[in-house]
Parts: sequence; C-alpha cells; structure tokens
Amino acid sequence: MAGILFIISAPSGSGKSTLVSEVRKQLSGIEFSVSWTTRAPRGSEQDGREYHFTTREEFERMIAAGEFLEHAEVFGNYYGTARQSLDEARREGHDLVLDIDVQGAAQVRRTMPEAVSIFVLPPNPKVLRTRLRNRSRAEGVVNEAELYRRLSEASREIENYREYGYILVNDILDRAVAQLEAIVQAERFYRNDEPIAYRSRRVLEVAAACRQSNSLERLNPVLEAFGIIGSSGQQDLPFDEDPDDD
Ligand code: ADP
Ligand code: 5GP
Repeated sequence: MAGILFIISAPSGSGKSTLVSEVRKQLSGIEFSVSWTTRAPRGSEQDGREYHFTTREEFERMIAAGEFLEHAEVFGNYYGTARQSLDEARREGHDLVLDIDVQGAAQVRRTMPEAVSIFVLPPNPKVLRTRLRNRSRAEGVVNEAELYRRLSEASREIENYREYGYILVNDILDRAVAQLEAIVQAERFYRNDEPIAYRSRRVLEVAAACRQSNSLERLNPVLEAFGIIGSSGQQDLPFDEDPDDD
C-alpha cells in the first residue's frame, strides 16, 4: 500500500471523530474509512457518511462472506471495516484512517503490523462524562443507561493503551489536533521521504513527544484518574494478589 494505515482508538466520547475531521480539513490525501454497524443512527448521522447502517442479518452475511478486514461487537452492536475501504485507499494511494475499538485494532495489527496506531485519551472521567452528555444533548437524545455503559467501559479500554505507538491526551482541542497532524506528517516523512520543509524539525519533535515511550508524564495523571494505576504510578494489583506471595 502506498498510503499509510492509521488506526485510532479511544473510549467513546474522547473526541477521536472530532480530531480526525479537524485534521482532514488541514491535510489532504487522507481518507476516513466508513465502517459498517448494526447500531441505529444517532442525531444527524447519515447512512454512508458516518457509518453504513445495516441489520444483524446482513452484517452476519458479510462476516460469512469474508468481507470484513476486522469486526467486533461493541456495546451490544456489530461494527466492522470492509476490506473494500482498504482496497480503495490502496488504489488511490491515499492514507486511510480507521476509527475502531481496541478489539478491531488488535485484529488489524495482527495482519498489518506496519499500521500506525494512536490511542486518544480524555483527561479524566469527569470530562469524559461531560463530553458524552453534551454530545447526546446536541443529538437530541440523552440516554443515561447508554451513557453509563460507555463510561463504565472506558477504564477497560484504556488498559489497552500499551498496544498503541502514539498517545494523545485530548484536553485542549487545538493542541490535540496539532499533535495528530504532526503524527501524520512525521509518518509520511519517515515512510515516504516526504519533505516537510522548514517546519519539519518542530513537527518531528511534536510527533516524537507523542510516542507512547515518551508519554508517561502526560499519561500517568490520566491513568490515575481512571483508577488504572495508584498515585505512586504503579499498576494497581487486584486485592487478592500479593507480589511477595509465591
Ligand atoms: P468519539 O468520536 O471519540 O466518540 P466525539 O468526537 O464525538 O468522540 O466527541 C465527543 C464530544 O466531545 C463531542 O460533542 C465533541 O464536540 C466534544 N469534544 C471533542 N474534543 C473536545 C475537546 N478537546 N474539548 C471539548 N470538547 C471536545
Ligand atoms: P459509536 O457508536 O460511538 O460511533 O462507536 C462506538 C465504538 O465503536 C467506538 O469505540 C468506535 O471506535 C468503535 N467502532 C466504530 N467503527 C468500528 C469498526 O469498524 N470496527 C470496530 N472494531 N470498532 C468500531
């Protein structure tokens, strides 16, 4: 594939759709893969734009026919990326962004280890709840049960951050957009020798700072806020596990 495959995952409501659409306004040559789902459209969503909306029967037929690059069940619905999205991006030589959950990302990484993966985090659970609620209000449907379902899944999803090459904390939108843009430009530079001229050094620095290995300082307060690590920065052990108890 001439283009680069970007995988972007995040707990629902972290802002990944917002980030991707902002970056696509700034950079050309980057397509967004429209997934298939069995969930109902939300708010102003249109079939073929945010998702291809379909039935469980049709989705299961597509699974059986091998039409998906990856698929997973998320919040009680099927979601999947059609192989066709990737084939089209390859034909056009475009970069492709997959906005997929942690299960789908693991499937894609197994078959395409060269994919660039990015995990987006909200700064803390309170902000995540506010964003989920604001989005529901804007869409004219506040479903508290669905909102809490998504919130309660967030910590479990965040535990997978180690599988991702880059980490973005989406606190201030402009900064997170600039970071995502820098990651795309840096990867283009590394893979295609694409010149990024005079801004290049700054862009490469911003992207490098987002690599998972360089993100601990930004990451730890978020992991703490979600109860994934203790305040010492150590991974919390389940209560019945004693490290000295062999
Ligand atoms: P996701 O695609 O991760 O589920 P969205 O992109 O739909 O999340 O964002 C969820 C809500 O949060 C939207 O209402 C969006 O406008 C808002 N949002 C996204 N990023 C930020 C940010 N950095 N600051 C404030 N609000 C944000
Ligand atoms: P939402 O219902 O909020 O649009 O999406 C819910 C979750 O499904 C998000 O984590 C999103 O990344 C994930 N998702 C969307 N499309 C796909 C897909 O094609 N495959 C997988 N595995 N997950 C997806």
